[in-house]
Amino acid sequence: MSQRSLVLLKPDAVRRGLIGEIIGRIERKAGWTIAALELRELDQDTLEQHYGEHKGKPFYEPLMGFMQSGPVVAMVVEGERVIEGLRTLAGPTDPIAAAPGSIRGDYGTIVRENLIHASDSEESAARELKIFFPGLV
Ligand code: ADP
Ligand code: MG
Repeated sequence: MSQRSLVLLKPDAVRRGLIGEIIGRIERKAGWTIAALELRELDQDTLEQHYGEHKGKPFYEPLMGFMQSGPVVAMVVEGERVIEGLRTLAGPTDPIAAAPGSIRGDYGTIVRENLIHASDSEESAARELKIFFPGLV
């Protein structure tokens, strides 16, 4: 079942020079391809659409600030069961709970600065892809 997922390499990943490392892991998965890729800064409006489900939570405002602290790499990744697969590759939200071998497990310690976003379901992917890559066919 080929799918598409929206991936963001967060500002911490870009600042720390981990773009190549993380993209390399994604590229090495058999049959997964990068269908679109862009380095960009995110504005408040885009982030409110993207993280709207978390509005009102204690971590929401600091998350908005963090996500605007530098550029992100926004990508569309396409391939077999890529939505579930990227969540596994990323690891759980809290990097300390993430297993070594996962991106968050290998590189993260702080929950907010957990390096990567990946869509969590087909519904989220469809919604998020529209926000970040409206021109995608
Ligand atoms: P995920 O990115 O794993 O889907 P969530 O959707 O729950 O996680 O949260 C969105 C993002 O908000 C997380 O990736 C993380 O950057 C941040 N975040 C979530 N929970 C917390 C928390 N308790 N404290 C600080 N930041 C958090
Ligand atoms: Mg989420």
